[in-house]
Parts: sequence; structure tokens; C-alpha cells
Amino acid sequence: MIGHALKRAAQLEVVAALALLGDDVMARRLSWCMEARVGRRHGAPWPHRLCRSAGCSWCGRSLVMRWWRGLKQWIMEMGEQITLVEIPLGQDGDLRTQVRRLRRRLRDLRDRHARCSGFHRWRSVAFAGLVSANNRALIMVSHKDITRRELHALLEQHLGPVSLSDLGEATPSTMFPASVASSIAHARRGVEPLRVIILPQRLFTHDTSRYLDPLPVVF
Ligand SMILES: [Zn+2]
Repeated sequence: MIGHALKRAAQLEVVAALALLGDDVMARRLSWCMEARVGRRHGAPWPHRLCRSAGCSWCGRSLVMRWWRGLKQWIMEMGEQITLVEIPLGQDGDLRTQVRRLRRRLRDLRDRHARCSGFHRWRSVAFAGLVSANNRALIMVSHKDITRRELHALLEQHLGPVSLSDLGEATPSTMFPASVASSIAHARRGVEPLRVIILPQRLFTHDTSRYLDPLPVVF
């Protein structure tokens, strides 16, 4: 658990970065939220001035955790074979560009592979995850018709060294540098800039009486 003092120091940097971007509205909201969080007496009701921004040291963590739990539940409903993949992000471009690039690469990889003869099984592969502050994406993969070894081979061939494991209790880190946190707050799009969701090509399971929700929705 990270204490108020560290979070406050991080938030002050984000507020300063937002002011530099000219986004005074968001800078003010994050400041108010910080004062409300730090000044709240133990057991007192939550104040109304919480910013609920993904770039906030406090709200960002709860937002990301809510989404992580939602995505986990959604992908687990896809089938029994689920693997957590850690993918290092590149160094070029800002974080949002890197996430967009990763989404495209994973989708293209799956789709191209599924088109090859004998590989139609790949159509049912789905990805859901979030980018972690350590410059890695934590992606949960549902691959009921593919072995983990096959998945590993394909991802490593196209994305470089990736690590695969059982789902476990891993969660994404949200301690982003101020430049990233401020751009996420400035975008006002919640965790969308950090999110990777790639639906399976076929939404029906073998049991056709069960229809999967096409998209995870978290409020
Ligand atoms: Zn906040």
C-alpha cells in the first residue's frame, strides 16, 4: 500500500504537468481530489470532490483495479485455458501510441494466423489486459483451442521475449510518471488509453445456448 505522502508528491507533479498542458480544469480537479483524500478523517464519508480520473494517484488505482477485475472475469468466461502474458512495450512514441500499436499487432497476428489453412482454431483466441507502469502490458489470453506452447511460440516470434504464466494474482502497476499520468488525465477517457481488448472472431462457444457478452463493461 502506498502512503498518502508518496501519492501526494506524485499528484503534485501531475497537476503541474497538466497546468503546463494548459488543462487548468483537470489540474484543479486533481488538486481538489488530493486535498479531499489527504484531509479525509478516518471513517468520515467520502467527499464529493473525487476526480475519478485515470491519471489521479488515488482514483486511477481504483479505476484500473475495477477494470482489471472486470476484464479478468470476462476473459475467464471465454473458456478454461487462460494465460497471462507480459509483453514489453517499445521505446518509440508515447504510451498511447505504443498501446495502439500493440492492439493492432495482436489483432493482425491472430487474424493472419487464423487465415492459414489448418489454423482456424486461432479464431477463438481473445486478448484482454492493461498496460502497467513498468513499461509492460499485462495481457490475459483465452486460447481454448491452442496450447500454451503454440501461443508462446507465435507471440515470441513476432513480439520478442514475452513471459507466460497462469493468471494468478498479478495486477498492473499504476505508478506512471507525471508525463504519462497527465496525458491520461488530459484525454478524459478513463482507462481506455491503457486498455487492450481483442474479441474472438467467433463469439459463440461450442455450447451455442450460451452467448458471451461481446465486450466487458465496467462502471
Ligand atoms: Zn482523484
